[in-house]
Amino acid sequence: MFKVIRIFVLLVILAVVGSTALMQRWQSQSWRRPQVITLYPINLQGDAATDAYIDQLSDAAFADIEPYFQAEARRYGLPLDTPVRVVLGRRMRELPPPVPREAGVMSAVTWSLKMRWWAWRKTPPSSPVPDVRLYLVYHPGDFNGPLPHSTGLEKGRMGLVHLFASRAQQGPNQVVIAHEALHTFGASDKYDPSTLMPAFPEGYASPDQQPTLPQAQAELMAGRIPVKPTEARIPASLGQTVIGRRTAEEINWVRK
Ligand SMILES: [Zn+2]
Repeated sequence: MFKVIRIFVLLVILAVVGSTALMQRWQSQSWRRPQVITLYPINLQGDAATDAYIDQLSDAAFADIEPYFQAEARRYGLPLDTPVRVVLGRRMRELPPPVPREAGVMSAVTWSLKMRWWAWRKTPPSSPVPDVRLYLVYHPGDFNGPLPHSTGLEKGRMGLVHLFASRAQQGPNQVVIAHEALHTFGASDKYDPSTLMPAFPEGYASPDQQPTLPQAQAELMAGRIPVKPTEARIPASLGQTVIGRRTAEEINWVRK
């Protein structure tokens, strides 16, 4: 008898988890109303310069994102005029769980669960209610070397975004934010993870152009502008990027 009850309880839990995931997927891809993306700044190292940068942050630092999504959605004929709204939420003092160093399915799954648990407990309330939560982890503006890899989770509709605390980096920062936001809507990366070179053709802004290289813009989910077979530039602003056809299909802006 107990065994039957236990199995029944497990089945109920599975059904709830499964239907929540389906609901979230439907919500994130139905584009019936603007999706609210709320940004939560975090000072990773706790230094004074980054603190000062976060304190002066306003909507102006993220002002390119809404019109960018608007223009790109219009290009694909999406009936919704404003696909996303970007809201600057309260800054957070708590650091997210560290991303595992070793690659592996198990550690990735464990981290994603920890991250969702952390987000559920620590995210400050904000209005309007967020559809997507992006945690902006700021590094000192004079930090040398590559930033840790940003992560957008489609399940849970959240992302961890590593950025430089510097006004000069405001353009590239918005490219990274828009890229991670698109992951939460179901878009996949379009670059080779070992070389970081955009994948052809889906990672090219104008794959039909002749000659193919150099390209003038980046596909947002490829993240870089290919200029030579083994060389790609980081776009300086969202104006140097487009949302490619394949990405538009993945986020359900156009039918496959
Ligand atoms: Zn990505």
